[in-house]
Amino acid sequence: MDSEQTASKRDFHDVSHGVSRGDFRWDGVAHMPYKQDGSAPFKDISRQVLFKEPDMGCELRYFEMDAGGYSTLEQHQHAHAVMILRGRGECLLGNEVVTVKPFDLVTIPAWTWHQFRAAQHEPLGFLCMVNQERDRPRLPNEQELAALKSVPAVARFLAE
Ligand code: MN
Repeated sequence: MDSEQTASKRDFHDVSHGVSRGDFRWDGVAHMPYKQDGSAPFKDISRQVLFKEPDMGCELRYFEMDAGGYSTLEQHQHAHAVMILRGRGECLLGNEVVTVKPFDLVTIPAWTWHQFRAAQHEPLGFLCMVNQERDRPRLPNEQELAALKSVPAVARFLAE
């Protein structure tokens, strides 16, 4: 590869050495708090895209919820590979609720209902690997929500 090609390829890369600023922030990585109005199905969550390279099929994001915050309850065709990095919380995974702590791994297969919830007094932060090309998440309808709530542990999780 000649140097001109290398230089033009590099233009795609926002960060070649992403220096950690501590506290789960990185130089050159935009911190994107999710907007929320009264009807938003998530609470106090932010996203940082750590890697999104044109020559890779996947991307790696860091999500963080404040204490008591939660992600959207959703399902989709694409899968997620998650590693917890900070804090404590719970994750709804299909019909199960699992407690999560740093370095735990969570695989979310296609069409599996999922939602993350930070503990009441601790934030929850995790890495999430995902396909760059992916379908849009869908939310449960009333029937699906009722079916989920028929499992007591799930009903308890969703009521919090
Ligand atoms: Mn998802």
